[in-house]
Amino acid sequence: MQGVELLYDFHIHTCLSPCGNEEMTPQMIVDCAVAKELDCIAITDHNICGNCAAAIEYAKDQGLIVLPGMELQTSEDIHVVCLFDDLENSLSFEKYVRSTMPPMKNNAEVFGNQTCILPDGSTYEEEQMLLVGSGIPLYGLYPLVQSYGGLAIPAHIDRESFSVGSVLGMLDTYMGFPLVEVWKDPTLADNVSVPYIQSSDAHNIDAFFDREYHSITAEEKSVKAVFDALKNMGT
Ligand SMILES: [Zn+2]
Ligand SMILES: [Zn+2]
Repeated sequence: MQGVELLYDFHIHTCLSPCGNEEMTPQMIVDCAVAKELDCIAITDHNICGNCAAAIEYAKDQGLIVLPGMELQTSEDIHVVCLFDDLENSLSFEKYVRSTMPPMKNNAEVFGNQTCILPDGSTYEEEQMLLVGSGIPLYGLYPLVQSYGGLAIPAHIDRESFSVGSVLGMLDTYMGFPLVEVWKDPTLADNVSVPYIQSSDAHNIDAFFDREYHSITAEEKSVKAVFDALKNMGT
């Protein structure tokens, strides 16, 4: 395909994830992505999209594409990166996800703060415990996310926790995912008959910088073209 090669990282946590370092503000992540000469990133906190708007807004003048997203935890405790090309769609999906989550409050002293930063710079602590399985099962997830205009990608399939393989033992084709994500070891993806992307799953700045990044071919450098390129990888 004719087009442009774009360096990406489609799995980054902010300070809104309880396990995300507090230095991971949307602004800091955008600054670091620009410093690393990335072209496109996604903000993917656990079960929530609250810090996407601030990152998108801050990145606007810096030539960086930011896809809104989240790392959904399914009812089986499997992590799936859900990406969108539209903030409103991601927030609609978040609303649904939230309606399926057990109403547990975060214990910040044990699990960490969940700091939401709005585009105007104001902040608040998210009370719902985010690091918890939603009520949404893996089977049927791909078309569900698609119905919100998004793309569901099983996360870090080479990890020994919260991955499809570690919970169910394998990724089979009838789960319906046309694209998967690898964290570090692409050889594991060789056993899977679908293409893969490789992202950092960074929870702190060091993990973000200490990384070799990969590129995706898109028609142009725009949110829509990047999202379409991801969709097309799996078809
Ligand atoms: Zn994960
Ligand atoms: Zn993650």
